[in-house]
Amino acid sequence: MPSYVVETPQRTYPALVERGVLSKAGAFLPEKAGQVFVISTQDVWELHGAALTKGLEHRPFDLLLFPGGEPRKKLSEVESLAEQMACAGADRSSIIVAFGGGILTDLAGFLASIFMRGIPVIQIPTTLLAQVDAAVGGKTGANLVAGKNLVGTFHQPLAVLIDPEVVDTLPEREYRAGLFEIVKHGVIADPDLFSLMLNQSGGVFDHDPDIVDRMIATSVRIKAEVVSSDEREAGLRRILNFGHTFGHALEADTRYERFLHGEAVGWGMLVATRLAHSMGILSADDAARIVRCLQIYEAPDHLARLDARLLAARLKGDKKTIQGRIHFVLPDRIGHVQIATDVPEEAVLAAIRASLAE
Ligand code: NAD
Repeated sequence: MPSYVVETPQRTYPALVERGVLSKAGAFLPEKAGQVFVISTQDVWELHGAALTKGLEHRPFDLLLFPGGEPRKKLSEVESLAEQMACAGADRSSIIVAFGGGILTDLAGFLASIFMRGIPVIQIPTTLLAQVDAAVGGKTGANLVAGKNLVGTFHQPLAVLIDPEVVDTLPEREYRAGLFEIVKHGVIADPDLFSLMLNQSGGVFDHDPDIVDRMIATSVRIKAEVVSSDEREAGLRRILNFGHTFGHALEADTRYERFLHGEAVGWGMLVATRLAHSMGILSADDAARIVRCLQIYEAPDHLARLDARLLAARLKGDKKTIQGRIHFVLPDRIGHVQIATDVPEEAVLAAIRASLAE
């Protein structure tokens, strides 16, 4: 199974996609690392903790359990975990193993970046979304009341270990939400991945191991390439935000309660695709294929009781908006996108309206 290299100014590290890689986790702990802290959530630990324990090859570790959930992804939880580590004797030679979904990998990565001014972390993501997106690339963070991920750091891990087998225990809704980030990778960078998602949805829904492995591995390769060329999102990395500008507005508008992140991104990609087509950037044929693919995976569409003007106003509050300039990531063909900054407000409103109920 493939191993990709993420090469950033901060660190070069492998992102390994391999069934059963949990059983090898110990090999990725540096020989001279001090105390090992595994941070996980109760549900993940109950399901997969035994496999990871075995993989750590009798290396003693302290287990810290984080309650999980977006409302708990906050600084007070980071502080509590830091206190627990300090009480357990952690020092600058300690290492964190982050084992869970995107909330856990973001939070534990953040903790690693600030504990004693920074200790290493190994990321072992266990949701589809975290495997293909959150855990690769070094972005860490926590939420403020004012908004999601408003505090955070770039802290590249020592390694990312991705075991596609563990996603089999995910609740189906979580699995499906992760699929939208994979469709995103296809649209922005890989027509073959897009075709796989469009034409082999039966295998995707059935968790066919061959298809699951291919879609995860290709996504990880794309994310590794993009991050390697632009660690801090000064340029190319922005393409990963396809669907996110609109998706974040939807998440905020529905108070993070109605949609999972991936689902909101699914809706956002529908809006961005309609916008790109209405502006003459994307052909009718490619737009129809992207919309069809998103519909297969049941992206939210034609949403009721939402106000297009309020959603459009929220775009300006997105943390990716700099000095009022919104960067729209718009596909110009399947497998390629462009960044547009001067998009007429009326066109944006029309694309949002086309994705809300009449
Ligand atoms: P999540 O972390 O809440 O995980 C979803 C649920 O599934 C949780 O209850 C979790 O405990 C459970 N779970 C995890 N693995 C499981 C498994 N194998 N079997 C059964 N249950 C399992 O949600 P998520 O979608 O993974 O992550 C969302 C977070 O990721 C958001 O906070 C978002 O901001 C962040 N994110 C970060 C980046 C980044 O670049 N850092 C990118 C995208 C998303």
